[in-house]
Amino acid sequence: KTDQDPSQDFIFRSKLPDISIPNHLPLTEYVFSGHRDGDSTTKCLIDGATGRVFTYADVQITLRRIAAGIYGMGIRHGDTVMLLLPNSPEFALSFLAVVHLGAVSTSANPLFTQTEIAKQAKASAVKMIITKSCHVHKLTNLQQLGVVIVCVDDGNDVVSLADGCVSFRELTQADETKLPKPQISPEDTVSIPYSSGTTGLPKGVMITHKGLVTSISQKVDGENPNLNFTRDDVIICFLPMFHTFTHSSLMLSAMRTGAAFLILPRFELNLVMELIQRYKVTVVPVAPPVVLAFVKSLETEKYDLSSVRMMLSGAATLKKELEDAVRLKLPNAIFGQSYGMTEAGTVANSLAFAKSPFKTKSGSCGTVIRNAEMKVVDTISGVSLPRNKPGEICIRGDQLMKGYLNDPIATVRTIDKDGWLHTGDIGFVDEDDEIFIVDRLKELIKFKGYQVAPAELEALLISHPCIKDAAVVAMKDEIAGEVPVACVVKSEGSKLTEEDVKNYVNKQVVHYKRIKMVLFVKSIPKSASGKLLRKVLRAKL
Ligand code: ATP
Ligand code: MG
Repeated sequence: KTDQDPSQDFIFRSKLPDISIPNHLPLTEYVFSGHRDGDSTTKCLIDGATGRVFTYADVQITLRRIAAGIYGMGIRHGDTVMLLLPNSPEFALSFLAVVHLGAVSTSANPLFTQTEIAKQAKASAVKMIITKSCHVHKLTNLQQLGVVIVCVDDGNDVVSLADGCVSFRELTQADETKLPKPQISPEDTVSIPYSSGTTGLPKGVMITHKGLVTSISQKVDGENPNLNFTRDDVIICFLPMFHTFTHSSLMLSAMRTGAAFLILPRFELNLVMELIQRYKVTVVPVAPPVVLAFVKSLETEKYDLSSVRMMLSGAATLKKELEDAVRLKLPNAIFGQSYGMTEAGTVANSLAFAKSPFKTKSGSCGTVIRNAEMKVVDTISGVSLPRNKPGEICIRGDQLMKGYLNDPIATVRTIDKDGWLHTGDIGFVDEDDEIFIVDRLKELIKFKGYQVAPAELEALLISHPCIKDAAVVAMKDEIAGEVPVACVVKSEGSKLTEEDVKNYVNKQVVHYKRIKMVLFVKSIPKSASGKLLRKVLRAKL
């Protein structure tokens, strides 16, 4: 890195003016400050599996009761509680209760193995785990160490409470007046979400009340909110709630604005479309694998999807080709992207989602959020770059994490002394302030002196009608160092050959981006949060 004078940096900011952000408030106070407790008509949570509804009044009283119940079980300010739950209203209520109390929430994929759960639980010294009875067998060792296990599905006719577990229902009936007024300071940790583990091991990330309030406010507050959710919206949620994009970015934004959050236990395209039709869903947050399934589905026309006014994609690169294909299927909806990471919350959002929207381009992941600064730096020299020059995206503002859990070295490597968080993503800002992600720095293929972005080749591959899905990874090569190899999933019944694939792509790209080999595979490995796991394919090669 060079000693370039920081005042000479090219700094990018939102086109929306900065606003005053009440980030001195504890999270739940901020989220519900616009709703009076008595709001017993507006729907807050809808359980897509059962049709159960929780109004804003229900949610606020229930979260306080659960907080009192958890307090009664000995959980105090600063203690960590793990949510090991599928998408459900219980996830939402538990999260809110834990953070309301001043305790810290950490969430994990309920499908994790005993070892994976224990690792995360021990790293953050978890004192309580809220889960379903079917996962209790994976928690016996933790239970022996004194961790309290709460089950959400106990006490009904089907499932009886597992040995030594606490009933969630009991917690929801606790006396909320027994909860002492929480003393929360803005710098307190509110949650420890884990990164997706796309490039390495998942990392625990410490988020503060101040950081999370800032991040939500940057999206949904102000006279012209960047992400215009309203009381009339029904937002469908099938992306995994244990991921921070879903429970922090989407759910809390919905609650701050008074929208309804319709929760589905998992993604199943036809069920999603049926529920969109039944509940007149207006906002559909997606990840690229969902977009791909939607675009390639032959059944979308069977459903009335006309209530959808906004489809928002995040989590991984989505190129112009696929975006354009969605627009054809949903001509009346605004389609746009949101770009973020566990460590920094939302970094950019499409301004097409603003209350007074801006014209935006296909393939862009949005414009940097307000009350923040962004720059793009050369990956070798560290010098900041002007518009249209790709480099590593860096972001600065109050929304950033406090640091990685138990890893101060990784923290200082990621957030530099001037407060810039280095995202590890390569992108550029165009003349209209729109950000385009090229790919992850770690996953660029180095062909001799050239850099090849796998995402660009993947976008070309999936635009082929006989290709259902694809991923591109580097393979070691004696002469070039690395060469691009394509892993391709053929559409049913297609007779596509390796030569067909190479011809299709290679005539559209410069010589060093040409695909050297094609492997036909049954499926492309993806993480629960919708990311392409190229590391898995690389390991196979
Ligand atoms: P790990 O850091 O553990 O390897 P991860 O980076 O995938 O995993 P997350 O924090 O869940 O973990 O994801 C953030 C990353 O997701 C970003 O750094 C970026 O690479 C990618 N991403 C998110 N949104 C977008 C988007 N709209 N376009 C392109 N990439 C995106
Ligand atoms: Mg990451």
